[in-house]
Amino acid sequence: MRAARFYGKGDIRVDEISPPDCGPNDLRVQIGYAGICGTDIHEYLAGPIFPPKPGETHPYSGAELPVILGHEVAGTIIEVGSEVKTRVAIIPAMDERHYGLEPCNMCQRGRRNICKRTAYRGLNAPGGGFANEAVVTEHDILLLLDDISLQLGALLEPLAVAWHMVRTAGMQQGDNCVILGAGPIGLALLLVLKFRGAGKIIVSEVTASRAEIAKQFGADQVINPLAATNTSEDIVVSAAHDLMDDGADIAFDASGIQATFDTAIACTRPGGTIFNVAIHEKPLSIHLNDLTTLEKKLTGGICYTREDLEGALELVKADKTKVEKMITAVTPLEETVKGGFVEFLENKGMHVKSLIEVKRE
Ligand SMILES: [Zn+2]
Repeated sequence: MRAARFYGKGDIRVDEISPPDCGPNDLRVQIGYAGICGTDIHEYLAGPIFPPKPGETHPYSGAELPVILGHEVAGTIIEVGSEVKTRVAIIPAMDERHYGLEPCNMCQRGRRNICKRTAYRGLNAPGGGFANEAVVTEHDILLLLDDISLQLGALLEPLAVAWHMVRTAGMQQGDNCVILGAGPIGLALLLVLKFRGAGKIIVSEVTASRAEIAKQFGADQVINPLAATNTSEDIVVSAAHDLMDDGADIAFDASGIQATFDTAIACTRPGGTIFNVAIHEKPLSIHLNDLTTLEKKLTGGICYTREDLEGALELVKADKTKVEKMITAVTPLEETVKGGFVEFLENKGMHVKSLIEVKRE
């Protein structure tokens, strides 16, 4: 290979040298570009400053003159050592990049989550995670830092969904929010809202155990909407108006039933946003005057983009212990049906996120 090496002041030569070995724990990178830094110029004019002096060897790296310069580098991995165990989270969404097609309009705009040709690994594409192995492309991975466990890595997906909703809802710092439903996505929304500096947060949840987690995650008020003594009163709406003056800036409906949808509209301030996160089994009814006369906005979101996943990773890095509380069961792959699905359904209130353990870390 060719390399520009520093021999001493005013002496840089482009030499033919043999390529370095790629050891079992190494990655070989084919360099694309490398910048010339002010430091490099300094070395050329007055060095060696950082490089070893003639006849000396760096005590730790073993480097001696001549050294290959260039420390602002980008390139492509072309060889992976046999022992490299790079831990990743898998992004399940597929789009034109996976099919060898030209990117659609939405993908060109960076909105891959609403690609018309989308498919999901683990739902309608090969490569699901309840299995020993999956083969994915380079587009599908997010590198996990060493201190992010694989269990936390598996939580990035729901957190990225929540991140996407909060981002596209236009949440500003200090915005007061209501979350209707403290299931996995509702609780993930709560974590993201707290992390991104929301104002007051009210969570509406009927299940005691989930309500308890919402409290631990920092909700200002957690309300059981069915606990009203006067059945004609929506106590979530009353609480929103008590705690937030004119109501919530944003109400996230993470339940998807008529009652929570009605509450979402009623608890939002004039000009506020009702954001639907739930997938609905049937159409709901709405009186559009409830939006029009107070200029409330009704919108929704689906999935996430890489940007949202990176945001979720920041959140996980910042508060691992809190995020880990979302994990309420870890079940071996062989027990997926009974210990995973059936248990979740039979004790719904006890579970937030149930993980299938394929290989213990
Ligand atoms: Zn597309």
